[in-house]
Amino acid sequence: MVVGLFVLGVAPVAANAAGRTDGYVIDHVATKEPVVFLTVDDGSHLSRETNQYIRNLRIPITTFALPEQINRHRRRFVNLLRQTGMTFENHSQTHRIVSAMNYKDQRAEICAGNREVERVIRRRPAFFRPPGGGWNSDTVRAAKSCGLSRIVLWNVMADGGRIIRADGGTGLRRGDIVLLHYLDSLPASLEVVMREASRARLRFALLRDHLPLPAKTP
Ligand SMILES: [Zn+2]
Repeated sequence: MVVGLFVLGVAPVAANAAGRTDGYVIDHVATKEPVVFLTVDDGSHLSRETNQYIRNLRIPITTFALPEQINRHRRRFVNLLRQTGMTFENHSQTHRIVSAMNYKDQRAEICAGNREVERVIRRRPAFFRPPGGGWNSDTVRAAKSCGLSRIVLWNVMADGGRIIRADGGTGLRRGDIVLLHYLDSLPASLEVVMREASRARLRFALLRDHLPLPAKTP
């Protein structure tokens, strides 16, 4: 069984399982283009200030929020979708660590995440991000069976205004997937990320524009 797990805030290492899972599980994007990817999780608090900040900057963000949280801030999120092209992916239904469950329960959790996001946002998620970054080979099987095209981890953490790379390096590099959360500190953290991106001459892009999706999702 292929297992990838790390604890948030301790070791920002996403299992590099590309070779073992045919590229289905990724923590960065192999690209020649000067782009990095902002992913923002959880959405427990999308304040008016953060909402306005994202809207004013029009930065492309891939959101991995829970259905309940998207629902709570539905109007703000739907406006961000319209105004900034924000995309909404699957972060499970209840934020339980899926790798601790059997296959059947993992599948139920992930498929329910899809259905709920689609119900609120009217767009179907394409990617799954396992809560806490914990996944195993059953997660891959379950996500595929729920019609998702990738499991997306991350290789850079940027909450708290500091860039922490999984490889121990500094700054940002092309293809990085940056993890942030919907906290009150998000605008301050984004400032730091934007400064680093401009220093490295990188622009922000959406994962969906750089990861080929299947022609038709089931
Ligand atoms: Zn989360």
